[in-house]
Amino acid sequence: MIHQSEIHSILDDYDQKRITIATIGSHTALQILKGARDEGFKNMVICKEGTEDLYRQFGLADEVLTIKKYTQVLEKTFQERLIAQNAILIPHGSFVEYLSPIKIENELAVPMFGNRKVLGWESDRGKEREWMERAELKLPREFKDPKDIDRLVIVKFPGAKGGKGYILASNPYEFEQKHKELELSDKEKFTLQEYVIGTRFYPHYFYSPLKDRVELLSMDIRYESNIDGIARLSYILQDSHPEPSFVVTGNLPVVIRESLLPRVLEMGQKVIGTSRELFSPGVIGPFCIETVCTEDLEFIAFEISARIVAGTNLYINGSPYSQLLYQEPMSTGRRIAREIKEALKEQSLSEVIY
Ligand code: AMP
Repeated sequence: MIHQSEIHSILDDYDQKRITIATIGSHTALQILKGARDEGFKNMVICKEGTEDLYRQFGLADEVLTIKKYTQVLEKTFQERLIAQNAILIPHGSFVEYLSPIKIENELAVPMFGNRKVLGWESDRGKEREWMERAELKLPREFKDPKDIDRLVIVKFPGAKGGKGYILASNPYEFEQKHKELELSDKEKFTLQEYVIGTRFYPHYFYSPLKDRVELLSMDIRYESNIDGIARLSYILQDSHPEPSFVVTGNLPVVIRESLLPRVLEMGQKVIGTSRELFSPGVIGPFCIETVCTEDLEFIAFEISARIVAGTNLYINGSPYSQLLYQEPMSTGRRIAREIKEALKEQSLSEVIY
């Protein structure tokens, strides 16, 4: 992993009056660009050939760079160009997926908002579970052996991108049948997780190390295909429905019962507290806990995303929660730029960059 001191020495040479906020053109780039501009920064979007038009059309970027493939960002000359422009990269879901967590950790020397040590913790299911357990979150039960399946489980394969390729099974026999159909080798790793029935909430938090505060900025529900389509036809399809998949296709806004907000905040605080113990200085900036709330009003958490999530795109103009915290439209993208601005003012940029 590129050492923190190496990134910070690059940062020390930056012209702090000419910072450029840069990201890859996908996922949450529009709000990141707008947020940077709203906070007075120059901004840049790095687009794969053929995707530039969207970013040009909205007119939100001062500079649109085109690359042939995403991994070009890791090339030495490309990185030197970004560094010469005093670029701070903002990671998002597609950014991490396209460049890969390992390559970001080991090859990307451009200063990035947040703590890159988190990438290893959120991309490894075992480590992520350890983190969530230490944060005292309630987790779905996991089965080590398919023979033990005694309730509905969701089978998660590591290669399954965005919930595509997950399968459901209610007993060992059903699991074996479906596993065989997928023609996977026995060595293929998978996680057998209890399928939690309830209502989903994906709260979007922001941890500010400068203020030492966890802010609840917004919340969404992922709109997933084909499971959300099957739900509309459940009475008609009955037993003949296709295998459900959980591919995110959009996001729906939601607010939560006010009496549940203290628990939502407490979960965010605990995740931050344990992240500091596990990979100091812990999570910096945006993160999200994927949860299901049961009929007993308990939150069962099944994943942490330790970066800006796409559900925040609903709230480019602020959310019901961010409006209580800020007297101006505060998206997560803008909140990131605000933290960088405050850090520059306090001469503590290295506290929020790694
Ligand atoms: P993930 O890849 O873990 O983000 O999961 C993708 C989607 O699968 C989620 O957004 C949920 O709709 C669903 N899901 C994942 N794990 C569970 C679970 N344990 N119980 C119920 N639904 C789940």
